[in-house]
Amino acid sequence: MFLADTRGGRELPLLKALAHPASPTRGLYTLKTIPKLDFAACLNHSYQELAAYICAALGLSGDMLQHALERYNSFSQTHAIAPLRLLTPHLAVQELYHGPTLAFKDMALQPLGALLGSLAKDSQEKFLVLVATSGDTGPATLASLAGLENIKVVCLYPAKGTSLVQALQMQTMDAPNLKVYGIEGNFDDAQSALKNLLGDAKFNVQLKEKGFSVGVANSVNFGRVLFQIVYHVWGYLEWVRSQNIKYGDLIRIVVPSGNFGNALGAFYAKEMGLPIAKIAIVSNANDVLEEFFNTGVYDISHRSLQKTYAPAMDILKSSNVERLLFALFGSERTKECMQNLDIHKRYTLSASELETLQEHFQAISCMDHECLSYIKQVYAEFDYLIDPHTATAFKALDSLKSPLPSVVVSTASWGKFAQTTCLALENKSTADDQEALEVLAQKGITPPSCVTSLLQKPPIHIEVLKVPEIARHIQAWL
Ligand SMILES: *Cc1c(COP(=O)(O)O)cnc(C)c1O
Repeated sequence: MFLADTRGGRELPLLKALAHPASPTRGLYTLKTIPKLDFAACLNHSYQELAAYICAALGLSGDMLQHALERYNSFSQTHAIAPLRLLTPHLAVQELYHGPTLAFKDMALQPLGALLGSLAKDSQEKFLVLVATSGDTGPATLASLAGLENIKVVCLYPAKGTSLVQALQMQTMDAPNLKVYGIEGNFDDAQSALKNLLGDAKFNVQLKEKGFSVGVANSVNFGRVLFQIVYHVWGYLEWVRSQNIKYGDLIRIVVPSGNFGNALGAFYAKEMGLPIAKIAIVSNANDVLEEFFNTGVYDISHRSLQKTYAPAMDILKSSNVERLLFALFGSERTKECMQNLDIHKRYTLSASELETLQEHFQAISCMDHECLSYIKQVYAEFDYLIDPHTATAFKALDSLKSPLPSVVVSTASWGKFAQTTCLALENKSTADDQEALEVLAQKGITPPSCVTSLLQKPPIHIEVLKVPEIARHIQAWL
């Protein structure tokens, strides 16, 4: 199967696009057409069998895929891979955080990492994967690529910009092919440092001399979206198996959104035939997506990034929207919109394009004070603790008032965001996650055991660099 380029560039075979996802047009590789699948026939499939069925329809099968799907076997023992928890018969939460780093990024990065490992091994190609993270992508990428042959990973994070738990998840990662640097500055500084490096001719020559090509595991890589189709289907089938809905009943999926990869996976599932009435996407104070889906205007010209309690959603340029535009309106129109975004920092859909968008999507935003109150409210009502990202989805449920059965996609464990949790439940500010966890423990609230053990581990990667020093350090390490 070939993937199309969203901006009309040349097509690439799927595996090639996974290994080399950067397109010369600066577009993204994506599905050319979306196949119709028979999910009703998958009711007895295991998670891995379902994943294999969907991947096969997109042209990916064989030993390499089987090996990649084995990664799911290591997801936490006491839970299924992506369990559905029914708060009421028609309100479900799908927990996507039972992978090694407690956020939903593991759902895709675990198998994708294994695929990249197989590709590197088979082709004798060496990859340097560079990742800039605001907190969740970094740990998940490191965990997915640790110890693989022919792959090295450099991860940059803002030294003062992540939670303690997130920082420790990176700093304690012990494998010879991983390097983690804190940088002086914020996430934008880390990301632009990385972009500058990738565009730097001298750096690229040196990489070539050492035999490396650049590998990409961020949302540019279609492999991320591919594995994010599966759990949406799984959640629906779990619900049918629970006998609270029948196959064919229409549901709503509510997705806390940032780069729009998770919601795009739901869109593909819908187009493949899963009975989804609407996908509700939720933004935080960075409500560019909410504005886009409600008005057809994508406008970042007057915006600057706000820091919120749901940091993984602190995004203005939501990269996967480009794949949605391509799927709905084709490459010419996508290219036009993306050019406008580059030049004018905005683009506007026509009235009929907006209507098409709204056939599939609804959009809501949730501010920080609401996020805190929904954590508290859901805990009081259901004795169920959610993280700040998931909390935004509960705001959406209330705003959307309509009788559709709804599944909230829960994207992280609260244990990653103890300080915010403590603020929400106890109205208490704390110095760091450690102190917050102690306060919560006094109330009988304990985090997943891996969080506790993480706080005991000695950090290995403790270097903090100034931006101009980064290139030199990476070269020296390679
Ligand atoms: C990455 C992330 C999101 C946003 O997901 P997108 O696919 O980028 O829209 C939401 N919540 C958490 C916890 C995340 O790590």
